Amino acid sequence: MHSLQITDFHSPDILTANLITHVIDQRDGARSVVTARDMLAGLDAEGLALLRRSDHLHRQDGNPRFLCAFCGCPVHIRVRSVAASGHVDGRRAGFVHDPRPVPRDCPFASTGKASSPDAIDAIRFNGRQEGARHRLLKTRLCEMLLADKRIKFAECEVLVTGIGADGRATWRRPDVLAVTTDGRRLAFDLQIAAPLLTTIDGRERFYASQGIAWHWIVDANQPRLLTLQGFQDLILPQASRVLGFNEAIAAKSEQDGQSRFHLLHVQEDNDHRHFRVTTRLIGLEMALGLAGFPAGGPPLVATDLRALALRQTLRSGNDIRAARIFDLLAASCGTPDWTAARRDHVPEAITTLATLLTGRKADASRFPDEAVSAIVNNFLRPDLSGQNSNLANRSWAFAIAQIDDSDPQVRQWVDRPKTKTRALLDAALAESAADPAQSQRLRSTWSPLLQRLFPRLKS
Ligand SMILES: [Zn+2]
Repeated sequence: MHSLQITDFHSPDILTANLITHVIDQRDGARSVVTARDMLAGLDAEGLALLRRSDHLHRQDGNPRFLCAFCGCPVHIRVRSVAASGHVDGRRAGFVHDPRPVPRDCPFASTGKASSPDAIDAIRFNGRQEGARHRLLKTRLCEMLLADKRIKFAECEVLVTGIGADGRATWRRPDVLAVTTDGRRLAFDLQIAAPLLTTIDGRERFYASQGIAWHWIVDANQPRLLTLQGFQDLILPQASRVLGFNEAIAAKSEQDGQSRFHLLHVQEDNDHRHFRVTTRLIGLEMALGLAGFPAGGPPLVATDLRALALRQTLRSGNDIRAARIFDLLAASCGTPDWTAARRDHVPEAITTLATLLTGRKADASRFPDEAVSAIVNNFLRPDLSGQNSNLANRSWAFAIAQIDDSDPQVRQWVDRPKTKTRALLDAALAESAADPAQSQRLRSTWSPLLQRLFPRLKS
């Protein structure tokens, strides 16, 4: 097992040490999770000595200031010598656990093996054939990536730590972690036995919170396994697609140094009795795109399989399916569900934004595919029937204004001659400015979901 804090990938200091990456700082009765680096690396030599002394006193008094953010046990500051580290300041310092009689569940445990989800899987595999197969595919996947010039790092079971969306320190050991030459991080979890729901959900959240592209990857030699419920739980919510891998594809890819994957599409037959699995080969860039990390920074519209599933279903107008997919995404973003979304015209806002950003119809309306202006105007236009049902639409003008500000292509659509889109947008913005409560509520309620679907809205 290797221990490497991949978030500090460029710092050789951290590479060498098995130091705790995140601690809880209890200063002044607070309990905030901070990175060891933020706490220590900026200290000068005096600051480091002072902190070590006061920390020691606090621990003697039974009030340790720093706890391991992973297991909650007291930790203390350890330094490497000036000679060994080449530094006199806080860059040679790190946190380690205080001596303790019983090992705890912690990725930095000095004794015993941490019980991560992967370790639990390993216990489930123990003594069974899956263990050997899992190891083989994992190793071959890593070798294939290392043979690809666009990859500068690939390693099995690297420890990745970070602060999760809930503010707690969190960690995973992906089966394979790769870093592209342009700095995108891509993790794979190779699943050859049906996973548990908690495993699926936990990983998805973790990698999303760490800004790491991530894929499940299955054994392409065993498509029948995909009919197990655990695999359906995993695959069907991601547009019924999943990456596959096997020895044959590894051998082929290593020959020309181009990573390849199967993209499996699992479809239910019309009689609802069978699944059909079709497959095609895709390359590294497409795999990164389908994880939401295309080249060139955050995409205009989320490109990952889970977002794709929502957009497909909004385009098809299948409300029952849209509701289910929406509810899962909403739960992962911590926003209200489809019923509340319908009331706030969230689906219409999503499809209008997607139409503007992609230049193609994204909703199920009868407009032609290229009728971008008509679709946007229809969204923003006051309802002449007097029922005022478009009022909620117009309260979303802030979101259109935001992408209009940041994207020149959107601005071209809005300013298109003879379309009146600019006038409609300005009128809607003026309405919101006069009575901002509705817009403000929409923004605060739905921002996490909109940012999930339109990553550029974050900035
Ligand atoms: Zn710990």
